[in-house]
Amino acid sequence: MELHLYDSWERRVRRFDSIDPGRAGLYCCGPTVYDYAHIGNLRTYIFEDLLRRTLEFNGYQVQHVVNITDVGHLVSDGDDGEDKMEKGSRRSGKSAWDIAEFYSAAFMEDFCALNLLQPAVWCRATDYLPQQIGFIQSLEQKGYTYCTGDGIYFDTSKQDDYGYMARLDRSALQAGARVDMGEKRSVTDFALWKFSPSEARRQMEWDSPWGRGFPGWHIECSAMSAAHLGSLFDIHCGGEDHIAVHHSNEIAQTQACHGTRLANYWMHGYFLQTGSEKMSKSGGDFLRLQSLVDQGFDPLAYRYLCMAAHYRSQLEFSWDGLQAAATGLQRLREAYHRWPHGGAADEAWMQRFRAEINNDLNFSRALALVWELVRSDTDAAVCKATLRAMDEVLGLDLDGWRPASVAIPAAVAQLAAQRQAARAARQWQEADRLREQIRALGFLVEDTVAGPALKPALAGAAHDS
Ligand code: AMP
Ligand code: ZN
Repeated sequence: MELHLYDSWERRVRRFDSIDPGRAGLYCCGPTVYDYAHIGNLRTYIFEDLLRRTLEFNGYQVQHVVNITDVGHLVSDGDDGEDKMEKGSRRSGKSAWDIAEFYSAAFMEDFCALNLLQPAVWCRATDYLPQQIGFIQSLEQKGYTYCTGDGIYFDTSKQDDYGYMARLDRSALQAGARVDMGEKRSVTDFALWKFSPSEARRQMEWDSPWGRGFPGWHIECSAMSAAHLGSLFDIHCGGEDHIAVHHSNEIAQTQACHGTRLANYWMHGYFLQTGSEKMSKSGGDFLRLQSLVDQGFDPLAYRYLCMAAHYRSQLEFSWDGLQAAATGLQRLREAYHRWPHGGAADEAWMQRFRAEINNDLNFSRALALVWELVRSDTDAAVCKATLRAMDEVLGLDLDGWRPASVAIPAAVAQLAAQRQAARAARQWQEADRLREQIRALGFLVEDTVAGPALKPALAGAAHDS
């Protein structure tokens, strides 16, 4: 079955064909580690994980590369303002290097808690200075750069199709550029190398042919992706905010240096919106994974929530929505663990599942299909094996979950036995009365095919712990 993915370059859903048969190179722009990731950032990594798992489900061996931006990402998308790392350092009193270390580790924790598959390569921008400097030298030799008082800039006027992916209207942008562009020649030009200020030392700075300084954020991704995946690979991902500036600039540099548009498919996750809750990291106060855990939610409930919305639509976060996702996940886990082992995955259900995810990652439809399976009269052992196979892609770790073992108090067990006896004698009213008594003691009785099951009354919101 063919896999179809939306490509931001062509702005349409295209059949996925990899450059090398059976292999897929995937580069995802990673976190800027000056603070914790917010749940919006995490939505993008969940989308990328679902993409990777879908590729693997389709038999591709995925070379997945994620970078860590630990230098050069300025507080504005333009080329002025402070480096986010130096800002984080000033805020916390720790060194920029310590900040990077600390928030990279925190990011890895979130990554694992969301059951995201580890990439083949994590690459830190500060480990790739020679490659970035080499890249800029090559651009310089080809005549794409100019020097200003604060750095080396990429001259976007040299490319007729600069900004094609974002369908940028450059003349309108230029006309609207009322702000002080400094010595930049065009508003879309961007820094490749920034000089350290002459009056102060930066914490992160390196020598270069142009003087002491640090790389621009965009060159990092072009240099690191080329180092690991070559100058043309299969898929490049990021959040939708990257289309207009960061990815347009990555493409421009690579086009100039290597003559390619870097990736054959460009895919973007749409934003998570949080209405009243703050979402910007630079705003200081924002929701992160731990904020959800603090409210009693399982990180995988957030994964479930994100999966239920298509990656190409914005998602409005709400606590009610998260609660509904947690309940859905909990019911799925309980169903999965109630079913017996010993079946084989059903091909017809798997085919339908594949059709949904291969249709530009339609995971909301795939989840609906999961529920159709759960509610169907398919043999329980087959259901278990089928759902297990689907979970290779869903990544909800159904197999790894264990029901929290709750001791059933003797009084509850006794009432349950009495209720069973009443049911056997078809004394329904008495059975209902006993059920209420059991509930008053904090337990629910569920009549399953395997007989009555007792669980704590709050099990819908309970978490694996
Ligand atoms: P950053 O750590 O700021 O470099 O961003 C990491 C990733 O999160 C990038 O791919 C961004 O495009 C993405 N991103 C930023 N804000 C959001 C949001 N509100 N929703 C979804 N993705 C986001
Ligand atoms: Zn990037």
